[in-house]
Amino acid sequence: MLSSVKMEVRDGLLRFPEQLKDQFLQTGDLPLWDGRRVSPAQMWYFLTEEAPRSFPAFYASKHNMIMGPSLPFHVELLSQLKLYYLRLTQRSCAEAKRKAGWALTLVNGGPLLDLYFGAHVIPMRPGSMSSLMLMESAEGQGATDLSATLEGIIDDGASRTCSDVCRQIRTHSGIRRRLVSVDLLAPYTAMRCSDIAYLVEWQRAGRMDLPKRLIDYPWDHDPSKPWKVKYVAQSQRETVKMIDQLTGRHTTDEDLRAAIIQMNRLRKACRELLRLWRAAPLPPVSSQLLNECENKAHDACQGADPVALARVFLEMHDETKEMVAHGVRGITVSPHPARLWMSGSCASPQATAVERSGGVVLGRDDRWGSLLANVDEDGDPYDNIARAVMSNPYEQPAEKRALWLVEEARQTRANGIIFAFQWGCNYQAAISRLMCDVAKTVGMPAINLEMDSLGRASTSEQINNRVTAFIEMLGGVAVSG
Ligand code: SF4
Repeated sequence: MLSSVKMEVRDGLLRFPEQLKDQFLQTGDLPLWDGRRVSPAQMWYFLTEEAPRSFPAFYASKHNMIMGPSLPFHVELLSQLKLYYLRLTQRSCAEAKRKAGWALTLVNGGPLLDLYFGAHVIPMRPGSMSSLMLMESAEGQGATDLSATLEGIIDDGASRTCSDVCRQIRTHSGIRRRLVSVDLLAPYTAMRCSDIAYLVEWQRAGRMDLPKRLIDYPWDHDPSKPWKVKYVAQSQRETVKMIDQLTGRHTTDEDLRAAIIQMNRLRKACRELLRLWRAAPLPPVSSQLLNECENKAHDACQGADPVALARVFLEMHDETKEMVAHGVRGITVSPHPARLWMSGSCASPQATAVERSGGVVLGRDDRWGSLLANVDEDGDPYDNIARAVMSNPYEQPAEKRALWLVEEARQTRANGIIFAFQWGCNYQAAISRLMCDVAKTVGMPAINLEMDSLGRASTSEQINNRVTAFIEMLGGVAVSG
């Protein structure tokens, strides 16, 4: 079992300490979607030699307000290194897939990604696409230069649309400036998100060359009505036909079933890891790390390699189980934390800041809702995916979603819920008060938290102050020192 190891700092950059090397080299290979394997020695070389040279901004030892946290200050699990390997190879992984004939596609925050993987599409949600864009711009750049570049992209997009358009303007602005070579925009419409459809429409004027396809999604989300499943499935079929025209291949039902099997494995591996962590008397590793796992699983490894990510989760599970058996408490976790669930979409206070104030983040409802899906592997894959997308508890009417979240919170011994939303996110802003009222009516403390960071990773003072006050109210005690 690894004891938490502090990262070294050299020349202003974080470095993985040499003392981790021997133990890490004894761990297993990482299997990839295309059948290749990466050895621990290759990963170690990449993380300690290649990546710091190519992406110095991600190794910066000071947190950056625009880019957000780069690497952690402590390594808590050996398998954590593999997670960072996957994060830092996102770009090369996408390039390899494109060379093999896959199309790069912008999708949206909610739906399952099985359909896209089955059709040989690299599906990137706005956050994943934004991260790819960051990697495209980051080669050789220091954190300050990269921040300035990103700030310009955000401002340019906002000035061409409206000042309070939501944070995904960064992604769309980058696509419009051709910072990433996107082949298709193919999100679902009318789900959790107001701005995705708006910004896809915006691209019709700026990127007329780019194919666009909105998968239509009915407002009444009841999957028990067969016509709705058929309606969404038909829209998915037409999207796959469009993708096939781009890739020049013919997607079969077997391709989709194979993708469903891989994605079910990924969701299950992450669910079991998160349940183990949440059930521990005190969190054995930081909530920042577990939140990153939840994000990566929801985004299917930022659209890159779900097979490799599932293996990382299995290794993390084994390591975490041993820590729980030994009663380990995460180095950044308070002995008396307030246990919190985050609700909302696309926005959340940073888990590191929450921990500093004496809280821990147990999960986010937008991520957790999609991880609960287990798509049927037999029968018509389009119908099965449509049914699973429509059954996501997060996508239900607001009152039903709130009651589901309260139940999840109770089962994980949570003390409260923070409903966070981006300024400019019309749907989530509109239901925030309702969600919190429902939660409070059934006895679960909850607060609304507007965030205005517009794609920047800053946790500004007013956000911190309100989160800290809520944690104090719930009895959380900050870590001293
Ligand atoms: S913040 Fe809201 S409007 Fe923006 S991408 Fe997320 S869900 Fe959509």
